[in-house]
Amino acid sequence: MRVLLIGSGGREHALALGLAADPSVDFLAAAPGNPGIAQVAELHDVKATDPAAVAALAVELAADLVVVGPEAPLVAGVADAVRAKGIACFGPSAAAAQLEGSKAFAKDVMAAAGVPTAGSYACTTADEVARALDELGSPYVVKNDGLAAGKGVVVTEDRAVAERHAAECGTVVIEEYLSGPEVSLFVVTDGTAAVPLMPAQDFKRLADGDQGPNTGGMGAYAPLDWAPQDLVPRVLRETVEPTLAEMRRRGTPFAGLLYVGLALTPDGPKVIEFNARFGDPETQVVLALLETPLGGLLNAAATGTLAEHPPLRWREGAAITVVVASRNYPGTPRTGDVIEGAEVPGVIHAGTARRDDGALVSAGGRVLSVTAVGPDLAAAREAAYALVDSVRLDGAQYRTDIALGAVEGRISL
Ligand code: AMP
Repeated sequence: MRVLLIGSGGREHALALGLAADPSVDFLAAAPGNPGIAQVAELHDVKATDPAAVAALAVELAADLVVVGPEAPLVAGVADAVRAKGIACFGPSAAAAQLEGSKAFAKDVMAAAGVPTAGSYACTTADEVARALDELGSPYVVKNDGLAAGKGVVVTEDRAVAERHAAECGTVVIEEYLSGPEVSLFVVTDGTAAVPLMPAQDFKRLADGDQGPNTGGMGAYAPLDWAPQDLVPRVLRETVEPTLAEMRRRGTPFAGLLYVGLALTPDGPKVIEFNARFGDPETQVVLALLETPLGGLLNAAATGTLAEHPPLRWREGAAITVVVASRNYPGTPRTGDVIEGAEVPGVIHAGTARRDDGALVSAGGRVLSVTAVGPDLAAAREAAYALVDSVRLDGAQYRTDIALGAVEGRISL
């Protein structure tokens, strides 16, 4: 199978490693890729969000399968353009990717499908915002309606901060605050059949103790030994199956990766958000534990044959990833700093670039995603932080408490 992977972040490096390890994948290309991905794939300098250019590259490479990593190309219609050329694509159509592209659309689908989620209002005027904030109360949750790279959400007890964020965004969704530990569940689907992967937990805030601003994600781990036994079947029954059915009913079936972000509230799991693609950095840990060949699984979803795919196999043990971010992330990050010690197994590249003189330099906010597996979470954690210590990047920021609560048994439901 000849595979073209679209994207350039840590998620795509993890996907590239999984695809390259699949014996059925005999050719792997990526666009635009990054220096880590370049170790396992042929890179092409094509813009990920240009549907015509991606489709033309897929034809030129005689790709059998295109795997789209990030949300922006999906929302731009890359999967539609690839499929129009008769090439299988892992990733939803632009219409179905609205489940991530518009929070208001996602809420509408959830309401129609009867999915448990936070009560909410879509607001555009200051009056509507004020009424929603009054009704739902503090802590206030204000979400930019459109794509915001994981940074469009403000959760605050400060009414003025909530109002300011709403005014800056234009259209917002204001919703009820959900309490309880958060879980990310990835579901591979061809629009009808649904195969859940292993639930993971990510860490959205910048600093230890869940302090500081929201980010794209600062670390993740799996499995979640503390999660309820029936979590996955319950979420499939209450959330995934009704959502897929509603998307089929609307004539826009969702095929690809449905990311279900959940809060495990005292009333049961409720959806915080849907994404239309693998989560970053949870992908790094989930794929580190997946033994089933990745290319075959994604191809089954892309070709509507997922119901015939064999059950997934998982490696024993646990995985953890620690994101190393550049100075000033999630503000305007400083880039161009030299990185040393990052070209070793386990160090997944997110925002890196190769300078003309061959040096590896930072090129984005989240620079590396340092990943390790171990016989248990404590061992995986120790290995990941030892690897973090061996990397040098001036001004690096990373959390020191990824998976610590789980290792110490401090997560309560
Ligand atoms: P989102 O981009 O929707 O995943 O939101 C980013 C983060 O904001 C989530 O991971 C949560 O930590 C927090 N968040 C979003 N919605 C809610 C909510 N309704 N209640 C509590 N926290 C929320």
